This record gives sequence, C-alpha cells and structure tokens, in this order.
Amino acid sequence: MRKLAISAIILLNTACVMAAPIMRVPNTASSRVIVNQLNLDYTSRTPEYIEFVYDEEAKQRLIDLGHENTSFFKKTTITNKNADEQFSELMRKDDLGIYHTYEEIVTELNDYASTYPGLAKVIQVGTTFEGRNIIGIEIGNQSNQDRVPFLVMGTHHAREWIASEVPMASVKDLLESYESDAQAKKIVDSSTIVYVPMLNIDGGIYSRNGSPMWRKNRNANNKGGVGVDNNRNYEYKWGVTGASSSPWSDTYKGEEPMSENENQAVESLYQKYKFKSSISFHSYSELVLWPWGYTSSIQCKDNEIFKKIGTGMGEIMGYRPMQSADLYPAAGDSDDYLYAKHGVLAYTIELGRRFVPSESKVPEINSKGSKALRYFFENARNPFEKVVENKEYKVLKSLEYTVYALERAEYDTQTLQDAYQKLATFTKQEIQTGMNTLKMKHRVKKHIEADLSTFERFKKHNQ
Ligand SMILES: [Zn+2]
Repeated sequence: MRKLAISAIILLNTACVMAAPIMRVPNTASSRVIVNQLNLDYTSRTPEYIEFVYDEEAKQRLIDLGHENTSFFKKTTITNKNADEQFSELMRKDDLGIYHTYEEIVTELNDYASTYPGLAKVIQVGTTFEGRNIIGIEIGNQSNQDRVPFLVMGTHHAREWIASEVPMASVKDLLESYESDAQAKKIVDSSTIVYVPMLNIDGGIYSRNGSPMWRKNRNANNKGGVGVDNNRNYEYKWGVTGASSSPWSDTYKGEEPMSENENQAVESLYQKYKFKSSISFHSYSELVLWPWGYTSSIQCKDNEIFKKIGTGMGEIMGYRPMQSADLYPAAGDSDDYLYAKHGVLAYTIELGRRFVPSESKVPEINSKGSKALRYFFENARNPFEKVVENKEYKVLKSLEYTVYALERAEYDTQTLQDAYQKLATFTKQEIQTGMNTLKMKHRVKKHIEADLSTFERFKKHNQ
C-alpha cells in the first residue's frame, strides 16, 4: 500500500513535468525583466520573442508576484503544448536515432584517431562530477609546426542535443574530405582544432536517459539543489545578470566562478592551446552571437570584427548575427570569458528551432554548420592582428577597461583609479567619440564623465 502511494506520487510528479508547455512572450524590456525576476527557464530568445517553460513552479511564481493579470501574462501564447514531446520519438529508439549517444561519440572519436593517425588524436580534457572523462579530439596535421589553434564546443546545456551534432559533423567533414578537397586539406594542414562535442557529459547523459529537459550539469554539492549552469559559471562579470543564486534554478551560476569541472576544463584547454578563436554551439533560435553577453550598455571594442565574421557565418547558416546581450543579458558565459580574459574571438551559435530538430532536418543543419565552420577556420585565424592600434582604438580599450573597473569599484578602488588615470590622458572629444562608437548607454556615459571631471590632468587638457 505504502509502496503504491509512493509510485502514485512519482507518477503524478512525472505527469506534471511531462505536461509543461513552452510559452512565448514578446521580447520587450518589461518582459525581459519579468523573465529574469521570476527566474523563468527560457528556452529561446530572438529579437522578437522569448520562450520559456511554463511548469507548475513558474505558474505559481507568476501568480505569487501578481503577474497573472498583467499584460505580460496576456501576451503569452503556447508554442509547444509539451516541452518533452520533441524528444520522445528519439528516446523510444535504442540509440537516439540520428543523434549521438555519449558512447557513440566516444567510439567515433576513437575511430577517427585510429583511421587518421597523423591528423587526429583523442584528448582527455577533464573529469566530471560523476567521474566521467570529458573527451575531445584534436584535428590538425601534426607534421606542421605552425598551426592556428581553434576551439569548438558543444553541449554546455544538456537538453540541446543538436549542439553536439554540428561539431561531430565538422570533424567528419574535415577528415573524410582531407584527401580529396583542397579547402579541407588547407584547413587541417594549417590549424589545430580542438573539438569538445559534449562538454557537459553528465547532464547530456541525464537528458538522454529520461529527463530530456535537463539543462545543467549534475553537481550534487549545492545545498540540496542539483546542477550548475555551466554557461553561467565562467569568471567574467559572474552573476551580474541573467543568472540565478538559487541552486534549484535552471540558470544557477554556482557557488563561485569557475567552480565547475567543465569550466575548469575549458580554462585548462585555453592554457594548453592558446586559442585564437572559438565557437560554442547551443540550441535554439538560429542566431550567431558574440560578446558582450552581460550587458547591452556597451558594445565591445572589437564589435566590428565580431560582426564581420559573425555575419559571414550567419549568411551561410541563414541565421541572424548580433551582440548577445541585445537579446537578453546573461553573465558568466563562455564568450565573455574567453574574449575578456584571453582575447579569443569567441562566438555562440544557437542552432535550429528546437532543442532537438526532427531527424529529417539534422543533415542540413550539419552541412550548413560544417560550411560555416570552414568559413570560420579560414577567416578567424588571427582576428586581432589586423587591428590598427591607433588612438581611436586605444580610447575604446581604455573605456572598456573603465567599465570593467566600475563593476569592481565596490571592492577594488585601485583598478578604477588606474582606469581613470589612463582615460584622463585622452581629450574630452576623443572620449565622447569613443563612447558613441561603443554605443555606451547614457547613464554610464554620465557616470564616467562626472568621475573624470575630478582629474586635474583631464581638466588641464580640456581647458
Ligand atoms: Zn544553451
């Protein structure tokens, strides 16, 4: 009897989770605030709309905070009656159909390494919370010394199955056409490309084994909550926006920046290879995104370079290119981190229109993705080399550093002093032009201008 009651509860719970719909609301400033405040688990963001999972918890939070009668609520429409449904057909198959299981990824990568010994080798990049090896593959003609290092990652988020497929397709594309295709040969001969097709293996397996909508990793050391959002855990502007402090939230940022094994693995990979450029695949929304992710208050100083190569990839994919935070600011992602800390030209590509596009659509996504990657490997080889370090660029650099320093001002006044000392060597006109180039928001401009006016040196300049 007792046993029966427990199974009934489990069944009921499962039924609730299973039935959670995905809702869509127009992407306006006010709905972004609500989605953020309520910690709604958004699944997709485009310039037009935000989609989120409307489970029992989300429903309750909306009611608790009085939003069930606001325009936010009235403007929501159902896009998918049951979020799990898109996975169910694949999960009925033994091996997830066209999608790779983790075991299939391991087998395939090992096969490539033995078939192409001088061009491919399997690497272990870390160990997960549940003790699995994070596996990757290094592609590149090992007999050439001078090669440009790239990083290609898939599946920070467990449920985004398609995000492992494009990296796997690109490995196959380059290796299998190496002998017959001049472009593939040129790329492999002159590059070191590290692919990590499934960074968040624990989560990825968990999602594939019956909890399809799982997003985070499986770290169970967080006050009873399970999982950290790996793409909110990187150490740059960690937690300032679009990330949760609650271990139960789907966007939980973790106890501290870089606390997660997967994030540490990415850092150690950087230290080993010193990547010039990187792409992290996610799903869904059909977008090519770049820094900043944490704020739309400024563009990054290299925005034009990001835009140029991002637009090139976008054209191949048929996707929209844009600064990430212009959609919806979220801090602690891999792009902001790799770019700000290590100067990597770091992109995110949001693939497809579902976490798991139907099997018939996968070959086309893979083929376009592989082409976009070829374009990337040819055009993002030394992205910042061509930057002319003229005065205009130096002002942008200095302004960006000041914005960074302002964020730290509460506990680090020295950095802010340094930033202003540097900025004060430029004229008011140069600084204003720079602020406009960075599309700096009015309040930030005013803040910096007011602070600067107290610097003697700056006053002298501008008398
Ligand atoms: Zn994602």
